Amino acid sequence: MSQATVSADTHSEMEVDLLIAGGGPAGMTAALVASLEGLDVLLCEKSNQVGGTGATSAGTLWIPGNSQSRAAGFSDSSEQADLYLNALIGEATNRELRNAYLQTGPKAIDYLCARSDVQFLPCGNHPDYRSNMPGAAVAGRAIVPEPFDGRLLGAEFQRIRPPVPEFMVFGGLMVGKADISRLVGRFDSFANFIYCAKLFARYVADRLKYKRGTRLMMGNALVGRLFYSLRKRKVPILFDAPIVRLTGDRRGVKGACLNVGGREILIKARKGVVLATGGYAHNKRFRETFMPQPVPEYSMSYEGNRGDGVDIGQRLGASITPQQCTSGLWTPVSVVPRPDGSKGLFPHLVLDRAKPGLIAVNSAGRRFVNEAASYHDFVLAMFESNKITPPSIPAWLICDAAFMGRYGLGVIYPGHRNPGKFVDSGYLDSAQTLEELAGKAGIDPMQLHLTVTRYNSFAETGVDIDFDKGETELNRFNGDTAHKPNPCIGPISAPPFYALAVLPADIAVSTGLATDADAQVLASDGKPIPGLYACGNDMASVMAGSYPGPGTTLGPAVVFAYRAAMHAKGVTI
Ligand SMILES: Cc1cc2nc3c(=O)[nH]c(=O)nc-3n(C[C@H](O)[C@H](O)[C@H](O)COP(=O)(O)OP(=O)(O)OC[C@H]3O[C@@H](n4cnc5c(N)ncnc54)[C@H](O)[C@@H]3O)c2cc1C
Repeated sequence: MSQATVSADTHSEMEVDLLIAGGGPAGMTAALVASLEGLDVLLCEKSNQVGGTGATSAGTLWIPGNSQSRAAGFSDSSEQADLYLNALIGEATNRELRNAYLQTGPKAIDYLCARSDVQFLPCGNHPDYRSNMPGAAVAGRAIVPEPFDGRLLGAEFQRIRPPVPEFMVFGGLMVGKADISRLVGRFDSFANFIYCAKLFARYVADRLKYKRGTRLMMGNALVGRLFYSLRKRKVPILFDAPIVRLTGDRRGVKGACLNVGGREILIKARKGVVLATGGYAHNKRFRETFMPQPVPEYSMSYEGNRGDGVDIGQRLGASITPQQCTSGLWTPVSVVPRPDGSKGLFPHLVLDRAKPGLIAVNSAGRRFVNEAASYHDFVLAMFESNKITPPSIPAWLICDAAFMGRYGLGVIYPGHRNPGKFVDSGYLDSAQTLEELAGKAGIDPMQLHLTVTRYNSFAETGVDIDFDKGETELNRFNGDTAHKPNPCIGPISAPPFYALAVLPADIAVSTGLATDADAQVLASDGKPIPGLYACGNDMASVMAGSYPGPGTTLGPAVVFAYRAAMHAKGVTI
């Protein structure tokens, strides 16, 4: 099969070497590597676009010892990362997979960079999420995709799933973390003004031809680059073609059936099938089985990720692991009422929580976490607090007018002229006194007053004796380095005061199909099922539910997709 756009109308049966189900970062990487290795590949995607959750992600990959960072002068090694993972998840857990991940990570990335348009840049400083543990890195471990020019795809640009609206400005312009300060300070310097004018001019030109801006960044750049590379190699992609079942049995998978326009087509796969359908985030049964109680209502995963791969594997006798853990990689989100009546979710990843002058409280008006902890650790603390002091879900981010002006909060960007508009829309509460604010939000007013008074005393000393806010590299990295004595602690004293409700949402899931180090799916007896692979969120996370640093899911997604494709080809890595 050689044509890039396959029409299933004309086929009821096809034969390939490798069938890959799911057009997210994991599936597209597996398809690309398999094609580069000379295999005859078919990629089937459930929707009419590629990208899945990956398209709406920050696009960071955690690759210890990567050569991009080394070339930029940062030193790191897989040994240091191993030390860190030992401290974080224990020496024995997932040993074989972890070794494979650490050893293959840099190799897989270099392979893609050398042989395709998938290119990466070092992040430089980007601390690990438990930056005070042995082996943790402050810099050099994370990489990001190089921005991508969507115009290279021509009409096929529309095949790239767009980012969520809350991550774009002017209705379609993607902005990265570095752009925000320049846009906010566009009149502060001539250089900023020119930078913003150029951004805007390109965007206006884009909109004459495309539905959104074509300057792709973060996850959209990763997806764009993978898709462009696949198109250049003429790898066939079947859209609107979900995998529905496997053929063969646990002694060997022979292929799979796809549902194309209500009709089943059989794909025979000589070397096997790769499940990369994005995990179970929107599957009620799996959520109730694997997630903490009460099961979080919200997920930031792509809504088409309904656990198809995990379910299909399970039906063939594959093992799912781990069964008992919080099985999510979490972020606090605020719920954004959109003008059309729908709801958006804004993830509080790095922009506001660590800044000085913000605390998080539960309904009792008490702090329960170092607000500058990683988004994953913040939500784990919400779960714990909710056991002791219900309800801690939602929790509230509390700040004052000075904070709002300087740093913004959630979807409200810094320096916004009219935060009151967001109060009117129901996004957050505001009041002239803390007691009144507490009354509106449903927080204990007396305790909130006491909590803020105590926290304000920490602002003077710079030491948070309750939760150590500002004590780790990660805290300070996301704080405000210009703020003294502690970049993460400042007073909450200038009315109006604000309270924004935040809830847990998964950005990825960590329970999935058990695999070996080559991403071969394991049956319940622990033996690989020949011809069946899983990667991305369909594969049980090598991190065993922990979140070591930026890029914890995309790193393994790419590396194990690479290993799966190499194994299918018969290449020993
Ligand atoms: C806001 C946000 C930021 C994030 N930032 C990062 C980050 O910086 N670094 C990081 O490591 N992770 C990040 N993540 C998580 C990351 O995006 C996901 O873990 C990753 O995209 C998973 O890749 P995947 O290929 O397994 O799934 P996906 O990217 O979700 O792709 C799955 C694809 O499979 C398709 N599919 C579903 N069912 C079927 C079927 N039956 N047949 C065929 N196709 C099917 C879907 O349509 C979809 O296209 C972030 C997530 C969010 C929400």
